[in-house]
Amino acid sequence: MSFLYVCRCCGMKLGELDQAAVSEVELGLHSLTPEERQHIISKERDGDTVVRVVCDYCRDAFNQHPELSLVGNPLQ
Ligand SMILES: [Zn+2]
Repeated sequence: MSFLYVCRCCGMKLGELDQAAVSEVELGLHSLTPEERQHIISKERDGDTVVRVVCDYCRDAFNQHPELSLVGNPLQ
């Protein structure tokens, strides 16, 4: 079982951490509100935890085009 980091905009896989090696506290996930957790974290059927973040590429794109929303998938 792993923590999978996936860009919520372009879907790119950014990283994978062994759940046995890190805790939610170490990742800072424990400080999220329940709403944020629902938004950002999802459990896969095989037990992996998917953490939806924004990759550097998409963050740059949003910085250059602030009219784009972080919600949804404006790059497709
Ligand atoms: Zn991205």
